[in-house]
Amino acid sequence: MSNSFVLVINSGSSSLKFAVIDSANGEAVLSGLGECFGLPESRMSWKFNGEKTEIAIEGDDSHHKIAISKLVGLTEELGLQENIVAVGHRIVHGGEKFTKTVRINEEVTAEIEKLADLAPLHNPAGAIGIRAAMEAFPSLPQFAVFDTAFHQTMPERAYTGAIAKELYTDYGIRRYGFHGTSHYFVSREAAKMINKPIENSSFISVHLGNGASVCAINKGDSVDTSMGFTPLSGLMMGTRCGDLDPGIIEYLLKKGWSQDKVFTALNKESGFLGVSGGLTSDARGILEAMEQGHEGAKLAFQVFTYRVSKYIASYLAALDSFDGIIFTGGIGENSMPIRSQILSNLKLLGFKEDVKGNEDARFGNAGIIGNSEMLDAVAMVIPTNEEYVIVQQSMALLNN
Ligand code: ADP
Repeated sequence: MSNSFVLVINSGSSSLKFAVIDSANGEAVLSGLGECFGLPESRMSWKFNGEKTEIAIEGDDSHHKIAISKLVGLTEELGLQENIVAVGHRIVHGGEKFTKTVRINEEVTAEIEKLADLAPLHNPAGAIGIRAAMEAFPSLPQFAVFDTAFHQTMPERAYTGAIAKELYTDYGIRRYGFHGTSHYFVSREAAKMINKPIENSSFISVHLGNGASVCAINKGDSVDTSMGFTPLSGLMMGTRCGDLDPGIIEYLLKKGWSQDKVFTALNKESGFLGVSGGLTSDARGILEAMEQGHEGAKLAFQVFTYRVSKYIASYLAALDSFDGIIFTGGIGENSMPIRSQILSNLKLLGFKEDVKGNEDARFGNAGIIGNSEMLDAVAMVIPTNEEYVIVQQSMALLNN
């Protein structure tokens, strides 16, 4: 029997990531990126058999559409098309409507467009990707996998803001949470690592990338998460501020800052970039500068790791039992010093680093990096694979 491939599409406001993935093993046969859409330097690049190709994207039509039609030609040219059995789309916001992966039809697409109110940068782009892919691959079943869906199991006490009820009933303001696909995947892998069924496993999953979030997972279900109504809340991130006294917004507005200036500051000029004094938003740059004695980088490292530790400790209140901490995302999967500092901040919970384990669990390797005898729990690293979740869930619906 020939292999079944799924085309995974992650459509951003000015970009489009794509991959053709073998559903049997999760390997990307083809992967690529379209970027700078709408600008003169708009381009698309891909990797196939280890070889990289780049082309310019030109034309008056939507660049998302042009990129997807190029993708049709490309998959045909590379002989992949007859193996592609489905298209899986990563969609950021599913609101309260979508609690799991769904097969896409006109009604679903319209719902995703309606939810643009909650994710103005992401959902319209996701819907453009869906419409373009429906036109380009009319005979293929298509599926939508939502970043928010995994968190729809959160209890009311976790998703309710301590604000007037009407803000929820009239405007839908509540905690939704993001990175759900990643927290879902790593918790399933973590349960396998400790040889327990996921229904009996509880973790605190820490996804640390340019965006970062923590998730409390009780017997397999998300019961709390640090991102909220938008992906701005919770941890300190590359350029996002995370949790912040809302009084600061009022204060800056009264000082004459425009709304735009305030939100640019909190979304794009905060986090590693802001705390380091404008040095960099990239964790590697922070770690390198710290080694050379850069004071801003040292402070950024401390604030970042302290905040992650505080979230982990507080999320014990969300769980009925606890099996361990999971680190994932570009930083969580690779940075020894950051993981080491976080575990050291949790010493009163009994956490001790396994230095050799911490060193080994990098660059794509999973592993145990420490433990707490007191809590009978481990700290582990699990490389995330959101695309593979999209493939598996699309295939599961397809075969159903
Ligand atoms: P995104 O949220 O955009 O998907 P990633 O999960 O790829 O981001 O994570 C990007 C972050 O991971 C960057 O801050 C980068 O510096 C960091 N990172 C990648 N490799 C390492 C490494 N070896 N050590 C420390 N940080 C790393």
